Amino acid sequence: MRTIDSVFLQAEEDCKPQFALFENTEEQLTRKMLEAFKDFQIAQRHFAPSNGYGYDDIGRDTLEALFAHIFKAEEAIVRPQITSGTHALSLCLFGLTKPGDHILSITGKPYDTLMTVIEGAAGDLKSQGVDFSFVPLKDNEIDLAALKENIRPNTSLIMLQRSRGYDWRKAFNVKELEEAIRKVKKIKPDAKTFVDNCYGEFTELSEPVSAGADVIAGSLIKNPGGGIAPTGGYIAGTKECIEKIASRLTAPGIGRETGSYEASYRPFYQGLFMAPHTVCQALKTACLASRAGELLGLKVSPGYNEKRSDIIQALQFNDPDRLIAFCQGIQYFSPIDSFVTPVPWEMPGYSDNVIMAAGSFVLGASIELSCDAPIRPPYTAYLQGALSYAHGKTALKGSFLRMREKGML
Ligand SMILES: *Cc1c(COP(=O)(O)O)cnc(C)c1O
Repeated sequence: MRTIDSVFLQAEEDCKPQFALFENTEEQLTRKMLEAFKDFQIAQRHFAPSNGYGYDDIGRDTLEALFAHIFKAEEAIVRPQITSGTHALSLCLFGLTKPGDHILSITGKPYDTLMTVIEGAAGDLKSQGVDFSFVPLKDNEIDLAALKENIRPNTSLIMLQRSRGYDWRKAFNVKELEEAIRKVKKIKPDAKTFVDNCYGEFTELSEPVSAGADVIAGSLIKNPGGGIAPTGGYIAGTKECIEKIASRLTAPGIGRETGSYEASYRPFYQGLFMAPHTVCQALKTACLASRAGELLGLKVSPGYNEKRSDIIQALQFNDPDRLIAFCQGIQYFSPIDSFVTPVPWEMPGYSDNVIMAAGSFVLGASIELSCDAPIRPPYTAYLQGALSYAHGKTALKGSFLRMREKGML
């Protein structure tokens, strides 16, 4: 039997060409960041806190302009008051629909928490008279041929999810999103297109706005917060759409004019600047996990040398005890709460028990090394993040080693 050490030596060697690609993306994106920070003349004054209504909050307004510029959007909303990715996405769904409208997801069933926004809780979209349906993926691809028959006269919003989320499918890259969006616009030019961009930011040189998406949204405790932003979400897109969504964010007539933050905005600026680097660390960790897992006999998705458009790595353990042991190992090698042993538990919105390993500085931040798994066959762990590749590698190696010692690998 091969030692874990020798598996990791080979895995790291095999991943080198991929690492070079990730690092090249990081370098190009960092250059873009520098140019943007220069263009906007970002200075200490932009970090200053505000209070009360937050009128003329220069830190907030400039941060939003900077995000819009980076994502090649006309406008953006970037707020610490957006509490999560789900909150950001929900604002878009409510802001861009009215009673009688229909929302169509063309990348299969949306992420779990969004299904509840659509139907399943007080004030959900259904109760507001908004209809929803989705087009299932066909052989794990967007079913372009089925778009026409699924788009209705009242379809006002077409939704796409870039990341695999917690499904055994690939992430859709910006080029694939572009093809689908072009097709949608041909069939129904007045429908808006909206991309759930969670986990996808800065994994590629361009973002879905450049692919024609009217709006994108995501979480600041994932990729674009760089592991530094303490909370928040962002939305970027056309002026028309952002105005509608801003009415939902605060109130019609007030929009983006209010919203104060009596702490420094520095972590949001610094996080954005660091994001290409942090995402690169996460991609390297995911790639290593894929190759090492494969060499140890696991089924993996994506393969180490496949193109990536999100930071998630799926690993199939085919056994609940092995899956749980792996997640517990990731927690054991976390900087925070290393002494805690996670166990599968009932989670709101999930049908199976879920185990979550998350020993992060920012509570729930999944740009930090973390691992989640619903306890159901084929017992798949979804691993993502890592503030540094060295941590990612150490935790993976340590976790697999602990499994080997227990005779599980
Ligand atoms: C994380 C995620 C969400 C939800 O974000 P939260 O911050 O967990 O609410 C939605 N969609 C996708 C694809 C995600 O990865």
